[in-house]
Amino acid sequence: MSGNLRRVAVMPGTGIGPEVTAQAVRVLEWFATRRTVPIDIAHPPSGPSAYATLGTPMPDSTLEALRNADAILFGAAGGPEIDAMPPAMREAGGLRRLRKEFDMFANLRPVVARAATIDSSTLKREVIDGVDMIIVRELTGGLYFGTPRGIETLPDGRRRGINTQVYTTDEVERVARVAFELARGRSGRLTSIDKANVMESGVMWREEVERLHRAEFSDITLNHLYVDNAAMQIVRDPRQFDVIVTDNLFGDILSDCAAMITGSLGMLPSASFSARAADGRRRALFEPVHGSAPDIAGKGIANPVGAILSAGLALRHAIGTAADADLLDRAVNDALSRVRTADIRQPDRTVVSTTGMGDAVLAALDRLNGS
Ligand code: NAD
Repeated sequence: MSGNLRRVAVMPGTGIGPEVTAQAVRVLEWFATRRTVPIDIAHPPSGPSAYATLGTPMPDSTLEALRNADAILFGAAGGPEIDAMPPAMREAGGLRRLRKEFDMFANLRPVVARAATIDSSTLKREVIDGVDMIIVRELTGGLYFGTPRGIETLPDGRRRGINTQVYTTDEVERVARVAFELARGRSGRLTSIDKANVMESGVMWREEVERLHRAEFSDITLNHLYVDNAAMQIVRDPRQFDVIVTDNLFGDILSDCAAMITGSLGMLPSASFSARAADGRRRALFEPVHGSAPDIAGKGIANPVGAILSAGLALRHAIGTAADADLLDRAVNDALSRVRTADIRQPDRTVVSTTGMGDAVLAALDRLNGS
């Protein structure tokens, strides 16, 4: 293989994670064989199965493989298999650890209203037609990592649960810089979302974003919204947004909300990046936005489009070319115009299984590639 071989490490996770990831892997294999994209796909042991056989959900060799990968393809975490492991093992093998350990602080979540699925949304066509936005979620700080945290028992017997919303200026600046740069390559508009009317961390967030704006990005049109208003605006008039930057908690919630523009949580991909090292490399993890969906796991009905589009983000940003990613995007549109998984069913479209949707995307790739 050539020197520019790109390493992909697959971590399917639990629940519907392995089901949807299998379809994303088929797509990457198609690009390796039909378009000679130099990809080496590895499946290092991880998760509950590695815990059962090797005594740890994250063997050192797996961590090393992930560290050396150009792209990590992740499925989904959570659910009964994870709950059955001891807490320390859950933490050791968890996604939160990986994000923190590799310092993948910038999580990009594109939300696109596709013509093929526009009627699958619960929102009106005239509200969502043309939506094309990216939510940049801060991923390694804020409420999900802040300390003190925990549940304690007070002297009078009451219990107290504690989490801490905390950010430092450098954490805000680096994720805001990613968002400003993205906006510069798109429409030149950035919306920063916080809760500065109530939270000091939000005041500091807003001041840092404004400082960076003045110092380096005065060509970008910046506006700020409080998160409660932002949630309302996303369903009222989502076309007003291009690039959004927000913290870990708000980004988690707002992106699930925005997912309904696409018709289903199962449609949304994401990419998480660290800063670039001196050699230009950065750690990158690609995963659908949804979780392990225990309610439908094992039924073969999960929508794999979010996972397949995550492979598309990997092609675009880590292991292929923009032309490869564009081809996959067109193939997904083509497949969606013919068949649907149950979550985005439409009266005039055949409902297919998870694998059936993978088949449809591969068939569309063959057609569009002329092979
Ligand atoms: P979820 O995203 O797993 O599911 C929410 C709803 O959306 C469910 O009704 C589910 O059936 C549906 N859904 C999700 N993905 C779908 C798909 N691809 N196709 C069709 N329908 C789909 O969220 P949840 O139920 O709140 O959480 C379940 C578990 O997942 C929890 O343990 C949670 O912590 C975990 N979780 C993990 C991640 C991640 O791995 N990044 C993200 C969110 C939640």
